[in-house]
Amino acid sequence: MQLAHTVWAVGEDGFLVKFHGVRGSTACHGRDTQRYGGNTSCVSMHFGNVSPIIFDLGTGLRYLTSDVSESKPKPFVGSCLLTHLHWDHTQGLPFFPALLHRDTVLDIYAPKQNNGCSLRDAFVTKICPPTFPVSIDEFDATINFHEIGDDEFLIGDAHIVSRLVPHIGPTLGFRVTVDDTAVTYLSDHQQPLGEFSITKGARQLCQGTDLLIHDSQFTPAEFAEKNDWGHSTIEFAMWVAETTSAKRLALFHHDPSRTDEQLDVLTARLVGVAQNRGFEVFAAADEMSVRVPHVVSEL
Ligand SMILES: [Zn+2]
Ligand SMILES: [Zn+2]
Repeated sequence: MQLAHTVWAVGEDGFLVKFHGVRGSTACHGRDTQRYGGNTSCVSMHFGNVSPIIFDLGTGLRYLTSDVSESKPKPFVGSCLLTHLHWDHTQGLPFFPALLHRDTVLDIYAPKQNNGCSLRDAFVTKICPPTFPVSIDEFDATINFHEIGDDEFLIGDAHIVSRLVPHIGPTLGFRVTVDDTAVTYLSDHQQPLGEFSITKGARQLCQGTDLLIHDSQFTPAEFAEKNDWGHSTIEFAMWVAETTSAKRLALFHHDPSRTDEQLDVLTARLVGVAQNRGFEVFAAADEMSVRVPHVVSEL
């Protein structure tokens, strides 16, 4: 199995969704994880004439653009829908090459914090000496912060729905819709203890979506040990997809200990199950591209 590097392009018949980082909690590296990749959460989508939309700013963000290895970074103009401020979803921001270009404008939409701290201050106190060489305000780029909660708004022609979802601390899920085609990004999502259920807000995000990107960090045995860590099992992700009539499910936010072989086995077992329940399932991988509504996974 070989990873294909897909040229960044506007989808001719739908969205082009690209996975740049699919791990949860922390980045990982090694022979056992190299096919699915070790970068943390970052996904992007291009469609029509709308500026790119990024989901989360994990370490995969560094590979969003093709100029990682070049000495002169290119500008980037676009928006980020940020689920929450945990490290695995924000650590890529100071290493995003485009922040070194003065024509870069990045609009970050993220949950309003409940500790009285503004969103901007949360980043200012996070990206600064001594834990980073410079302050976030010293980058040449313009970064605009937008505090949101349960909201609906437009980015270009894209209709965005954000809903607070169960996790640890203020956390959002997102649904992006253009021309009746929808992508739902529901990364860190606390599975309820006991019987499966879904909050009204999470259901609104998922119902009938064309592609559901969902937390699937744990096996049931792992969840039994870590049931208050804010995450879901693969089985719960499957149930959410089925109960909300999602058309495709991308297993996402893989545990850093999950090997390529384990993901192969888990996914192979689920393909037939999902088919019987009326949807498709696949495990997301770094550098995988998916065209929505037509899935073309390049793993
Ligand atoms: Zn996470
Ligand atoms: Zn988290």
